Amino acid sequence: MGDHAPRRRGQVAALLALFPPEPAPDAAMIEAGRLLFAQECRFVAAAALEHELPPDTLPEVAFLGRSNVGKSSLVNALTGRTTLARVSRTPGRTRQILFFEMTRLMLVDLPGYGFAAAPKHEIERWSKLMPRYAKGRAGLKRALLLIDARHGFMPADRDFMTLLDQAAVSYQIVLTKYDKAPGALGKTLEAMAAELKTHTAAHPQMHLTSAHEGFGIAELRAAVATLAAAKE
Ligand code: GDP
Repeated sequence: MGDHAPRRRGQVAALLALFPPEPAPDAAMIEAGRLLFAQECRFVAAAALEHELPPDTLPEVAFLGRSNVGKSSLVNALTGRTTLARVSRTPGRTRQILFFEMTRLMLVDLPGYGFAAAPKHEIERWSKLMPRYAKGRAGLKRALLLIDARHGFMPADRDFMTLLDQAAVSYQIVLTKYDKAPGALGKTLEAMAAELKTHTAAHPQMHLTSAHEGFGIAELRAAVATLAAAKE
């Protein structure tokens, strides 16, 4: 935790009053999240084509976001391991969907995208890849779309939100780098919440995290554990 942690906790309490998580994780859920992420996290497959997808046998939660959003740092904080960052930085892997198996969960790392509006070829590649991955993937519980808390939605994020809407993949926003976010974050969050209402596949609640300060990590683990345990 950094020096500003107590002040931040106060801010977060105020923000959570505005955007209550659903449901607020209790001690049992936090423990379920801790246990889930204490498991081994093993790289099992990389897929660019439909036939390369691993069997759909586990509940699945997918992570995506633009490059540099803090995806590797967040997954490292969640798992307490650097497996994902190591594998996803291997040359040739950056355009593939990567699968990491845990005991009761498949973590899926979707390719990062650019900072500006996505170029046409990237959108085209994704428009093909995403439905191929998501179609009939019964185990896919939710995609977690990472957004830098300092910037809110960027043009490329909006392109991908539309793609997820079109592929009917249920997704939820996870704000990253909260420790760097300005004090006026409440306004950004309000604007984002309003915008989320216009997206058919978006979950209305957002998670607030800082991989560097460990903020919101236990709560996100709990949320993923709840998703993994859900029947539908
Ligand atoms: P990825 O490209 O999405 O996997 O992003 P990385 O995890 O590699 O992070 C990109 C940059 O953001 C790195 O310089 C990280 O140190 C930084 N970063 C990641 N998470 C945080 C965070 O919680 N707080 C701050 N301040 N920086 C972060």
